[in-house]
Amino acid sequence: MAKRDYYEVLGVAKTASDDEIKKAYRKLAMKFHPDRNPDNPEAEEKFKEASEAYEVLSDGEKRSMYDRMGHQAFEGGMGGAGGGFGGFSAEDIFSQFGDIFGGAFGGGGRGGQQRARRGSDLRYVMELTLEEAVKGVKKTITFTAPAPCDACDGKGSKSPNDVETCKTCHGAGQVRMQQGFFSVQQTCSTCRGQGKIIKNPCNKCHGSGVSDRQQTLEVTIPAGVDNGDRVRLSGKGEAIRDGQSGDLYVEVVVREHEIFQRDGADLYMDVPISIADAALGKEIQIPTLDGRVSLKIPEGTQTGKLFRLRGKGVKPVRTSMQGDLLCRIVVETPVHLTARQRELLQELQETMDGEDSKSSPKKKSFFDRLFD
Ligand SMILES: [Zn+2]
Ligand SMILES: [Zn+2]
Repeated sequence: MAKRDYYEVLGVAKTASDDEIKKAYRKLAMKFHPDRNPDNPEAEEKFKEASEAYEVLSDGEKRSMYDRMGHQAFEGGMGGAGGGFGGFSAEDIFSQFGDIFGGAFGGGGRGGQQRARRGSDLRYVMELTLEEAVKGVKKTITFTAPAPCDACDGKGSKSPNDVETCKTCHGAGQVRMQQGFFSVQQTCSTCRGQGKIIKNPCNKCHGSGVSDRQQTLEVTIPAGVDNGDRVRLSGKGEAIRDGQSGDLYVEVVVREHEIFQRDGADLYMDVPISIADAALGKEIQIPTLDGRVSLKIPEGTQTGKLFRLRGKGVKPVRTSMQGDLLCRIVVETPVHLTARQRELLQELQETMDGEDSKSSPKKKSFFDRLFD
């Protein structure tokens, strides 16, 4: 679900003063406070939403960040790790595990309150040849990312007995503070919201529970992918202690092909032919992604003529329609002539320039109009 605009949540104008924001929040907080609305999840949601909006808009620095960048300003949290994380649109994603194209995104935990319990999504850019993209391929990738620490099994402590429930918040990670006549929830400062304290941190990860590790994975790229398509590897993103790992997105970049250009399901290519073949016609061999096929050039074929070979294009990953191969004819003017070829062409030129010649109708009408 898309997040509502924070100003809209509080029902104030973008130009609202700090006082107006505070008043609006107090009103909402009183109305939807869980103590006043026991067992009402909708009210609880509204309360959380208002608290979140207030947290940002009541802080000058956060508010100006929000004004400039919107909700994006507070998402991700994988700063400095190479960028490009987060912000994926759901429809262009398909997943290697489970569902093929993306509807089921992230398995919950993405909305506001639980964000801290989940590692960041990571992106891996994979370069493919056109053939690999069209036919699909299995590739092994190697990358370094935070993984559960192997010394402590991701627990962050030397032994399980070294973990204690936080005495301040009793494991909740949140404490309730009384402020005037209503109470607000705040992140517990003793355990920084973790709900527990590690007495003897692991030597290797210093209690973080994660360490950068080189990982090798086999990725199956389905047939028909194109630039920007992504394969999701569930849970292979950034690992965090006591939380769900993020996902790894393998993003496809297709290398330019020497012969073929792809446009969705169709492939295009230029086919150079000689003036003699163009004038007299000829059956020629042309390449496709599935080997050679013959193409009949009829006599009198002009440059720019497109021949469509049905079904010789691409089947994109999201459709069942097989595209076509479009061959664009380029008639090549002969160069580096032998004496004999020059002689023949000069002879040809004379006959073509003759009064009765009908061999160049376009040229004729062009010059006729020019001299009229
Ligand atoms: Zn605590
Ligand atoms: Zn460790």
